[in-house]
Amino acid sequence: MSRKKIVAGNWKMNKNYQEGLELISEALYMVKDELHKEVITIFCTPYIHLNSVAKLVNVEANCFVGAQNCHHEKSGAYTGEVSVNMLSSVGVKYVIIGHSERRAYFKEDEQLLAKKVDATLSENLIPIFCIGELIEERESEKHFDIVKSQIEKSLFHLTAEQFKNIVLAYEPVWAIGTGKTASAEQAQEMHAFIRSVLVGQYGSAIAEGTSILYGGSCNPSNAATLFSQKDIDGGLIGGASLKSRDFTDIVIAFNNIS
Ligand code: PEP
Repeated sequence: MSRKKIVAGNWKMNKNYQEGLELISEALYMVKDELHKEVITIFCTPYIHLNSVAKLVNVEANCFVGAQNCHHEKSGAYTGEVSVNMLSSVGVKYVIIGHSERRAYFKEDEQLLAKKVDATLSENLIPIFCIGELIEERESEKHFDIVKSQIEKSLFHLTAEQFKNIVLAYEPVWAIGTGKTASAEQAQEMHAFIRSVLVGQYGSAIAEGTSILYGGSCNPSNAATLFSQKDIDGGLIGGASLKSRDFTDIVIAFNNIS
């Protein structure tokens, strides 16, 4: 089964409203010739930009806007939070869930993340569900167990039908924002392992159809090597998504891989 190829930018907490508009205008201008090709392009912006960016992206050309988080309840007295219905009402299509920064700084645990996944799916939004180990977990050779357990605890309550809507992002925490990319071999090894875990739970058709992105210091120089790996279906891009040229070059690198 052919899988969706995806390059998603995660702006994190960067760019005020005017700066965000400048970045998206520049990025969309640079990337425009790539949009009708195979790769799906997603801009995951801070909440304040979503409404405006949704009006600029071209969903017919597989270019979407995504959020970086959501609340798990539908509505109510949750001061400062944003619901999935609010997100979809402004045209959001994807939601990053379980990013390591949310796990670490906001203490989001597997149970809470499972609820966020459910909320997202209930609104027909697509979760980009992040998993990945800390450096000490890799050094003590626990990385496979950690990643498997993250998937099991937050996703394996889903039916096969629901799971078809999940995008996974393997992001080794030690590679995020550090300039230390996982080698193509390390990334491929983990992606193949993740796919084997999915085969065990949902069977090979669903496992083969699930897009698994790599994230962690991905840039124009390493993108092609990473994306050529058999089980790597794209990238979640942090720092490089704030530079239109770099982000565009990553998309180009992927479109150029036959
Ligand atoms: C991320 O935060 O999802 C990420 C991959 O960041 P960076 O590309 O900056 O390592």
